[in-house]
Amino acid sequence: MPVLAATPPEILAQYELVIGLEVHCQLATRTKIFCSCPVEVGNAPNTNVCPVCLGLPGALPVLSRQAVELAIRGALALHCDVQGESIFARKNYFYPDLPKGYQISQFDKPYALRGHVDIQLESGVKRIGLTRIHMEDDAGKSQHDGFKDSERFTYVDLNRSGTPLIEIVSEPDMRSSEEAFQYMTEVKQALQFAGVSTCDMEKGELRCDANVSVRKKGAEKLGTRAEIKNVNSFRFLKQAIEFEFERQVAIVESGGRIIQETRLFNADSGETVSMRSKEEAHDYRYFPEPDLIPLRISDAWLARVAGEMPELPQAKRARFLSEYGLTPYDADVLTATRENSEYYEKAAAASKNPKAVANWVMGDLAVMLKTAGKEIGESPISPAHLGELVDLIGSGELSGKLAKEIFPKMFETGDAPRAIMEREGLKQISDTGALEKIIDEVIAANPKQVEQYKGGKTTVIGFLVGAVMKLSRGQANPATVNQLLAEKLK
Ligand code: ADP
Ligand code: MG
Ligand code: ZN
Repeated sequence: MPVLAATPPEILAQYELVIGLEVHCQLATRTKIFCSCPVEVGNAPNTNVCPVCLGLPGALPVLSRQAVELAIRGALALHCDVQGESIFARKNYFYPDLPKGYQISQFDKPYALRGHVDIQLESGVKRIGLTRIHMEDDAGKSQHDGFKDSERFTYVDLNRSGTPLIEIVSEPDMRSSEEAFQYMTEVKQALQFAGVSTCDMEKGELRCDANVSVRKKGAEKLGTRAEIKNVNSFRFLKQAIEFEFERQVAIVESGGRIIQETRLFNADSGETVSMRSKEEAHDYRYFPEPDLIPLRISDAWLARVAGEMPELPQAKRARFLSEYGLTPYDADVLTATRENSEYYEKAAAASKNPKAVANWVMGDLAVMLKTAGKEIGESPISPAHLGELVDLIGSGELSGKLAKEIFPKMFETGDAPRAIMEREGLKQISDTGALEKIIDEVIAANPKQVEQYKGGKTTVIGFLVGAVMKLSRGQANPATVNQLLAEKLK
């Protein structure tokens, strides 16, 4: 599509980008949504299956209570109104990995309506509206890479068939790829913190369809949208939207019309390509699922689930600011994931100086974990040991320099800092008796500098302190050394 590069920036600048996202999130249940088959990845194809998720005639679905509870949590985390009654509906279409011939979804009566996600932009906070959230089951997987006798085969694996999903539909409120990126980030974080899903995009637990249109700036009417299916990373989401913007502007500028269609993003070329013309709701012949009764969520049930909700990212950020005296930047980084915040809070609880703990977590620990390719949940340095290290510095038992020496050893061995310190004789020397001995040696060895000091050139004290530090192998407490030296040289 070489025409794209041709659209000059001043033309692009006359258009506004409009984006609405549909996010599919896999609920972290033990079983599938309508049967008791386990939700597990990595098993041999077609082993986690039963008559229900194979779509055999006469098999009856039974709704999972855990799936509903996680779905409710998701709705609460995204500030939606949970509906007292919702209806499951059949969405009919043919696909080889959809053995029932329909997906069980929710259509005109979903379990959650309205809601919002606040995103942080340079210009301030922007609120993105949510239209609805509904529950549905996932299809199986087609594998198109099978070969046999040099012929190509497509294989179908139904292990995923019947995995519980929620679909979160936003209003067309986003105006740039950056806003879409921030929105996805916030949604993912909220769902993870609420324990709804692990949201691993690489495993397909969070997937996104991006609806994109353009209109002339100032125009009221929305343009015709293209829907880009199954964008499975944050980077691809941005790329796909940016490509789509330029493609659509180029078409409109050349007098063409955007057709409503479903497109696929090709990660290799960075382009979107047409897949099919967009189906309309009536193409699916939705009708109420006759094998399931309406889903009723009583006030009491809703209240119980609400009472069990863990603290959400925004509340946690605010608490980190007030409780631990952190900067907004610190609070953002430390609440980026639930694992980060849990590690930090445990370490902070083990120390008298939560701000210093934050610096270690975001600095040395983060670097070391990254180098080792480990997640914070797998940190060989326990939160308690990190807290202990910070307090050893605070009490003067360790200098900052010695702490930096001990830290990699803690990472290697998983041992407590005090144990390493004692084993290696790395204790900071603050004992004046021991220090005086070293200082006397240094004074005796450097008569010239002592002379200069006494002659009024007091800056040479830095040299003498350095000599003491060196002689003590970095273990002398510099503040005490300074004080003792000054007294002795009087
Ligand atoms: P479908 O399920 O058929 O894709 P929906 O009506 O559920 O359709 O809308 C899907 C998404 O498309 C929503 O997130 C909505 O905000 C978005 N959307 C609707 N119209 C536009 C438009 N003109 N431009 C961009 N996004 C749009
Ligand atoms: Mg859609
Ligand atoms: Zn099953």
